Amino acid sequence: MIVVSLIIVAAYAAFVLYCAKRSAVSFEEELEKDLLAHKKDLQEFREKKEARYQEKMKFEEEAIKIFTLYEITREITKSLTEKEAFDIFKKQLAQHVRFKSCQLVKAGLEGEKEFQALKEQFVFILQEKKRLIGYLVLEGIAEEDKEKVMILGNQFVLALRRVALYEEIEQVAIMDSLTDVYTRRYVMERFQEEVKRSKARNIKLSFLMMDVDFFKAVNDTHGHLTGDQVLREIGNIIKDSIREIDIPGRYGGEEFCIVLPDTDYLGAQYVAERIRKSVEESAIKAYDTLVQTTVSIGVSNYPSDGQNINDLVDKADFALYRAKKYGRNKVFCFAEITDKK
Ligand code: GH3
Ligand code: MG
Ligand code: MG
Repeated sequence: MIVVSLIIVAAYAAFVLYCAKRSAVSFEEELEKDLLAHKKDLQEFREKKEARYQEKMKFEEEAIKIFTLYEITREITKSLTEKEAFDIFKKQLAQHVRFKSCQLVKAGLEGEKEFQALKEQFVFILQEKKRLIGYLVLEGIAEEDKEKVMILGNQFVLALRRVALYEEIEQVAIMDSLTDVYTRRYVMERFQEEVKRSKARNIKLSFLMMDVDFFKAVNDTHGHLTGDQVLREIGNIIKDSIREIDIPGRYGGEEFCIVLPDTDYLGAQYVAERIRKSVEESAIKAYDTLVQTTVSIGVSNYPSDGQNINDLVDKADFALYRAKKYGRNKVFCFAEITDKK
């Protein structure tokens, strides 16, 4: 009996031991699983942290880029000429990119030649829509900086476009679109400056006022389009008859004026006579007709006829009126008119 009892107790003890061992193993396994899960979480957390860090760095980089662009654009915006825009661009570029040299090569034959010679360098093509403007040629630039050059290069293209637009607008505002001589406003501004300059340097200056004779009849006979063509041709004759420093303008309608810096009466009379003769001798071809016309010219001179532009315009106008009165196709100098009433 005792033996049986002992066997039962031993068997029970063995069973309890077995159960305890099993539960210990499964507990260890649980722990192992938990640990693995935590490790995985930690790994995910680290990955997320790294991704956030990368994102933050990217944002910072973007912010720097945007700020740089803003700074550069703001600086370049101040420039009104291509050279100025390029100088500013180069200066700004040097603050963000390392390079040995940076050249602007304009499109066109000469530019192409230079560009060919520099083929080994990093070349950024300056292009606006489909129009080739030129090339930015950079020497000694690091691979990682090329993207920056591209971004800044595009800003430079915009700056060049802006400069071109500004020049176009300026040109439109100072040139008369029909006759391609200066507008009255522009000539008067320049006239004022020239009078000041003549005073300061104690030199003479002349002013011509010119009017096409019987121009109404040209329009009436041949039509306004032919009249326009005649005015255009007279503009060309004027430009061909004067020096580079002279300032030709369309005073209004069929009237022209010319400022002749550093010119005395004799010189002015000579130029006026040359224009008068040239118009008289030209058969102006307008569409299918040849038009013969003449001009009358009045001349005034600084300082003998006045000290300011208003006086000089009035005196030249007076002389012109006399030229008309005494037969047209004539040059009259204010100083030579004896009867000034
Ligand atoms: P005068 O010898 O006295 O100067 O005679 P005129 O016929 O030239 O003078 P008038 O002032 O009577 O006529 C000027 C004409 O010029 C009238 C006007 O229609 C014309 N005209 C003014 N501006 C233009 C223009 O831009 N184009 C054309 N085709 N005609 C113009
Ligand atoms: Mg007139
Ligand atoms: Mg006239």
